Amino acid sequence: MNEIFLLKIGEIILKGGNRKSFEGRLRSNVARRMRPFGEFKVSVLQSTVYVEPENELCDLEGAWDACHTVFGAVSLCRCRPCEKDLDSIYAAVVNYLGDDLSMARSFKVESKRSDKRFPYNSIQISQQIGGRLAEQYPEVPVDVHNPDYTVYVEVRDFAAYVHGPAEPGAGGLPTGSGGRGAVLLSGGIDSPVAGYMLAKRGVELECIHFFSYPYTSLRAKDKVLELARLMTRYCGRMTVNIVGFTEIQEAIRDNCPEEYFTILMRRFMMRIAERIAKDHGCGCLITGENLGQVASQTMEAMAVTHAVVDLPVFHPLIGMDKEEIVTIARKIGTMDTSILPYEDCCTVFTPKHPKTKPKKAAVEQVESRLDVEGLIERALANTELVKVRYHG
Ligand code: ATP
Ligand code: MG
Repeated sequence: MNEIFLLKIGEIILKGGNRKSFEGRLRSNVARRMRPFGEFKVSVLQSTVYVEPENELCDLEGAWDACHTVFGAVSLCRCRPCEKDLDSIYAAVVNYLGDDLSMARSFKVESKRSDKRFPYNSIQISQQIGGRLAEQYPEVPVDVHNPDYTVYVEVRDFAAYVHGPAEPGAGGLPTGSGGRGAVLLSGGIDSPVAGYMLAKRGVELECIHFFSYPYTSLRAKDKVLELARLMTRYCGRMTVNIVGFTEIQEAIRDNCPEEYFTILMRRFMMRIAERIAKDHGCGCLITGENLGQVASQTMEAMAVTHAVVDLPVFHPLIGMDKEEIVTIARKIGTMDTSILPYEDCCTVFTPKHPKTKPKKAAVEQVESRLDVEGLIERALANTELVKVRYHG
């Protein structure tokens, strides 16, 4: 094979006894992610995932791109495999990296020998290959301290590999290794980022969206489905639970004081999300809440909102500035869709003067005017499930 990918495993190697299962999960996640790009052999050896195209029909560029979004790999190298002897290694370097090397201002060779039977140690390999390259490219000086370009040689069990500088991987832990969580996905900037951050820690996601047709349009629903689809690039396949929320919002509007609209609505969201989460084996709820961003995201409001559920509520954006959130939203590719101007159900019945420091007892008293259980059951019965898969 002319070219293969090596994905270096990150924190997983710290996981002691669980290491095998983490590696297995990462291997199958990578294999699944490669499927749209042709037939690849994916194996794990020595804390490294090997991704080898099986034939000429493989879309290497697409596959390489996809490797950047697989959680659990810290760095990625595109390499040329070769026989384990110095002549073959040297020829592979010249053929595969010669163009980059000839344009560099200086270079060095860095070697690693995990096959200890190989007759040269890593320093000797670097000296031998570096010496020959210095003769071949006399205009590119060797600089071992601060090289412009580094040639890497790895002598492993079955072959030697040469490559240029590695690229950063997605980091984190393999999807699925951290259990399942339900993310409350609105159409905004924050919640897709919150989902991404938990997915990065190995959590498999179930999405929940509250939809208030006709107060919010079908285009708003499509926008959320598109956001979920975009998230699958990192988070893997997901199901979006679209919960009909109209009756609940109307009941709140018709029976409760305006200043309580948002907090009551959010308590319903939490209760419904918890039931869906438990039905799908999820151990937490995930929201895009961010301290102080809006009236419903004060400490007091969040306490009253989260009080209605037992599951832990994770809100990984809590201490971030908007700019930091936007940077991640751009990186994961959800930003442009998030800022499309369709309304969210939160904005439809927004009170002019929401309570920023609601008291739990007062909220409960207002809420007692509503048939909470009946409203929840009807909303759950009025839930549509949409499966979303990898985005091309
Ligand atoms: P976002 O940018 O994610 O919409 P936001 O800053 O607009 O967040 P809120 O509207 O107060 O904040 O919502 C806080 C969190 O509640 C959201 O991040 C999301 O997790 C959840 N949420 C809000 N509206 C919905 C909805 N219609 N469906 C599902 N979850 C929602
Ligand atoms: Mg919102």
